[in-house]
Amino acid sequence: MRDERYDHYPQLEIDLGKLQENLAALQERCQVSGLKLSGIVKGFSAMPEAAKIYDRAGLDSIGSSRLEQLRHMRRAGVKTPLLMIRIPMLSEVDELVRWADISLQSEWSVLRATEEAAARAGVRHKVILMVDLGDLREGFWDREELISAALEVEEKLENLDLLGVGTNLGCYGSVQATPEKMEELIAAAEQVEAAIGRRLEVISGGASSSVHMLLDGTMPKRINHLRVGELLLLGRVWGCDMPQLHKDVFTLRAEVIEVKTKPSHPVGELSVDAFGRTRTYVDRGHRRRALLAMGRVDYGECEDLISREPGLIMLGASSDHTLVDVQNTVRKIQVGDILEFDLCYATLVYLSRSESVHLVFKGGPETQ
Ligand SMILES: *Cc1c(COP(=O)(O)O)cnc(C)c1O
Repeated sequence: MRDERYDHYPQLEIDLGKLQENLAALQERCQVSGLKLSGIVKGFSAMPEAAKIYDRAGLDSIGSSRLEQLRHMRRAGVKTPLLMIRIPMLSEVDELVRWADISLQSEWSVLRATEEAAARAGVRHKVILMVDLGDLREGFWDREELISAALEVEEKLENLDLLGVGTNLGCYGSVQATPEKMEELIAAAEQVEAAIGRRLEVISGGASSSVHMLLDGTMPKRINHLRVGELLLLGRVWGCDMPQLHKDVFTLRAEVIEVKTKPSHPVGELSVDAFGRTRTYVDRGHRRRALLAMGRVDYGECEDLISREPGLIMLGASSDHTLVDVQNTVRKIQVGDILEFDLCYATLVYLSRSESVHLVFKGGPETQ
């Protein structure tokens, strides 16, 4: 495992072959049900090596919440249409029409500014109007407002094409994506269609949290588009495990820099930890513990790391150190050993952006 290329830690390994297989599996499942798939790449900060795998998968579009990620992908030669999934800032509409082919929208002023930017740039830009179905993040709440915005795009904003409507669930309000919510979205779409006098091309039924309906056959027929990030990367999300998908596309490796037997309860008068928090510590007597050379600056919260080392207990972390109990690990952990972790979505976002984390790529078209 420790060949030259792999000799820097902390290290995030991305198995491009497994990522490609996950994309192919979900893409096929979507095609069978007549759904278009947009692959969302914000979870790994759209790093070009992985984004290129998305580009080769023949997706409907590739999306991110960050315009600079779309720009990087386009500059790296990504050909698939690019979708801006965060409501654009008024201050970025000129960049938006330059780098994104499609955007999700929910504000009159932004739509009009996008129109003007598209006119200035001499391009056409597609929009999907977002409908808030109760999760209370982005989207039109008032149906009349949605319909008049749709009419304005259709009839007045000459450089914009109204591609369809969409929704987002399970983000702020923890509202579940259900067939009933999908029917509500379809009803909104049909109201728009009645107003503009034509069928909408896209009804975008949400993110990873909507895929369970595709798998169990409860997805209403008119939903024809999904925007999926996390599920493709981790192989499962809350409430949806797709058995065909790899769960280990990503591996985090960290190096042990100290191993000692120490008391498990701090010794002295206790105040607050490195982040100013009052903490409690369980006294389990003297235990063998290891210190790892990576910390919260790299990954966020240590509770979100899932150790692959049987018997290891996560103790805590400061900015640059992670502490683990290795008293009962099967292997006897020593200084210089490398420990492996599975990730959850939040840790992946941090790790893929951290300058001190070394990215290594496995498999995929380039190295096969
Ligand atoms: C992040 C995001 C997605 C993808 O969400 P996952 O849970 O990662 O599938 C889809 N749509 C919007 C608007 C998003 O912000």
